[in-house]
Amino acid sequence: WPAEEVVLSLEKITVEFDGFRAVNGMDLSLRKNEVHFLIGPNGAGKTTMLDVMCGKARPASGRILFRDRIDLSKKKEHQIAQLGIGRKFQAPSIFSELTVEENLALSLQKKKGVFSVLFARRKEEDARAIERMLSTIGLGEVSGRRAGGLSHGQKQWLEIGMLLIQEPAVVLLDEPVAGMTDAETEKTGELLRRISVDRCVLVVEHDMEFVRQFAGKVTIMHEGKLLMEGTMDEVQADARVAEVYLGK
Ligand code: ADP
Repeated sequence: WPAEEVVLSLEKITVEFDGFRAVNGMDLSLRKNEVHFLIGPNGAGKTTMLDVMCGKARPASGRILFRDRIDLSKKKEHQIAQLGIGRKFQAPSIFSELTVEENLALSLQKKKGVFSVLFARRKEEDARAIERMLSTIGLGEVSGRRAGGLSHGQKQWLEIGMLLIQEPAVVLLDEPVAGMTDAETEKTGELLRRISVDRCVLVVEHDMEFVRQFAGKVTIMHEGKLLMEGTMDEVQADARVAEVYLGK
């Protein structure tokens, strides 16, 4: 069984804030077809890792290789987004007054540019893409509803849909199940599995039950460094992990 292709690879990444090393020599490889969780105690450097991957923070040293050849470490945030690295922030980005469908259409337009609305054939293509996305995120039945009136879980799925409709190769999510009910959490886990087909999904997460249930691979950070990486079973069996993180 060949290992899946590495799409994004961070090598010896260091990020400093006024001389303080929030991330200190981290390595991380994201492979296709894998829901990869990044976990660790508060202040470990997880959010900074997401920031560095999407260009919001700049590494003091190290490389970020996309598809084995493009170094992202010196690229701007919008260039990185265009290359296909999509980040969902915790702050909401949906337009409450627009319908679910309109929100998806807007996000698609943003990616394709204004010309896509001018040609009839493209319009049909777009409509089909929106239809498919509604079905992926399970919002087909509420497609005409105002986004502001959705439940918390539905809003999160819409945001994930708005990201996915731009067809990113890498999806970065920050605590996607925070505030969700158990049923919504379960659905989100299944959604993450579906969307990891042919792409990389990296999730920063605190909900360990959720990680246990849905993790393909787990990377644990501690004080800016890699503590351990492996499957959930491997990670849970590790004594250092138990000591610094699981509090045993
Ligand atoms: P985590 O997401 O694992 O909780 P963060 O990446 O948010 O950790 O933070 C790692 C460390 O870097 C923390 O000590 C935090 O205080 C510090 N830090 C993060 N962002 C900044 C910033 N913009 N300026 C100064 N310090 C920061």
